[in-house]
Amino acid sequence: MSTEHCVIVGGSHAAASIAAALRQEGWEGKISIVGEEPHMPYHRPPLSKAYFCGEKNEHELLIRPESFYEKNDIDLVLGSRVVGIDREAKKLTLHDGGEIPYTKLALTTGAKVRKIPFTGHELPGVHYLRDLGDVDEIKKYVTEGASAVIVGGGYIGLETAASLRKLGMKVTVLEAMSRVLQRVTAPELSAFYTRIHTEEGVDIRTDVTLEEITGDGKVNGVRLADGTVIDCKLVVIGVGVIPETELAEQAGLVVNNGIVVNEFAQTNDPDIVAAGDCTFHHNPIYNMDIRLESVQNATDQGRIAAKTLCGNPTAYSALPWFWSDQYDLKLQIAGLSQGYDQVVVRGDTTSGRSFAAFYFKEGRLLAVDAVNSPKEFMMCKKALAAGQTADPNKVADLSIELKDLFTAP
Ligand SMILES: Cc1cc2nc3c(=O)[nH]c(=O)nc-3n(C[C@H](O)[C@H](O)[C@H](O)COP(=O)(O)OP(=O)(O)OC[C@H]3O[C@@H](n4cnc5c(N)ncnc54)[C@H](O)[C@@H]3O)c2cc1C
Repeated sequence: MSTEHCVIVGGSHAAASIAAALRQEGWEGKISIVGEEPHMPYHRPPLSKAYFCGEKNEHELLIRPESFYEKNDIDLVLGSRVVGIDREAKKLTLHDGGEIPYTKLALTTGAKVRKIPFTGHELPGVHYLRDLGDVDEIKKYVTEGASAVIVGGGYIGLETAASLRKLGMKVTVLEAMSRVLQRVTAPELSAFYTRIHTEEGVDIRTDVTLEEITGDGKVNGVRLADGTVIDCKLVVIGVGVIPETELAEQAGLVVNNGIVVNEFAQTNDPDIVAAGDCTFHHNPIYNMDIRLESVQNATDQGRIAAKTLCGNPTAYSALPWFWSDQYDLKLQIAGLSQGYDQVVVRGDTTSGRSFAAFYFKEGRLLAVDAVNSPKEFMMCKKALAAGQTADPNKVADLSIELKDLFTAP
């Protein structure tokens, strides 16, 4: 009988991945998942999409059914925040004073929303969106025909705008930069999403600064720096996330824009691994140190962490990929476009609703954003993972078949 006990802190994508992979890898000891949220691990992406629109219920969000945890003898300690790690004694302290001993520890504490203390941000009707509870609260303020303001034109902001339009609200998106999705996509994509949202009735305002959220007992509007007032009964703020590293820092683990882990998902304590949004790690494909906010990374790095814990270390080397659903548009992103110096569009971003944008650096393919183009996404993902590139002068030529675009490294 094994005396090992792996405790996984955090109860989301990375946690579920580690727990499942531990059993697959033959871990015979005890496994516990300690999560602050009261829910079993659930898919977070539908929160701003299908769950928000009422197309999926809470049960349909579950990553694994309850029976999976029972069958695999995985203990779920939900609604419990870990407040301290004693690495010498190898035990965790919970918010209620309880203690849990461990022999191996996995940190999957994810990310938390970046909060900006705008005047009026504490008014009822002003929300951030990160977990299920947030969406349930936001939905209390959703009324057909009423107005909502979204602060932040990133993926979460735009997905929420699309969902609120589906639910019949009037929506204004406020973006401080000169275009939406500026941090993550090329100008062509920003222009495309601005066009679509405008066609769908969203009022997108860029280069604007939110001065104040107004209200009397509950939110009734926002005031911009130029004096413009927009009436609304709901404000959703989506201005990014920061890694949840408090616990790791307190425990003396190395933290730098995330918990620093090596290619085996190990922290500087050999008995502690970490995976998901909370980690800062090296990506060998791009030869870059990165922190990712994606289900792909949480799941894949989680598997790597489990292998390490089971004494079968395997280096993490996955091509990052991501998606975003807005209206009938499925954006699928293969690779990382950071540092690109050229964008070539295959298809047309100015009319229609499908195309693929290829990002290059010094003529070498870095990443592809594919909108309603699953074939392009799949082929580019495969090519990028295999280290292939494409000729930027040929990509826009639709007479050349997609499969003929890629060339060996
Ligand atoms: C609305 C929304 C839409 C998204 N859409 C997409 C998408 O379309 N595609 C995509 O790839 N990604 C998307 N993402 C990002 C994706 O959900 C995250 O990358 C993923 O959830 C990361 O998983 P994780 O397990 O690393 O961390 P998280 O999901 O952040 O989970 C961390 C968990 O740890 C818990 N926790 C933290 N500290 C403690 C502690 N001390 N004690 C106990 N528990 C603790 C937290 O409460 C949380 O439940 C979206 C995210 C949001 C919020």
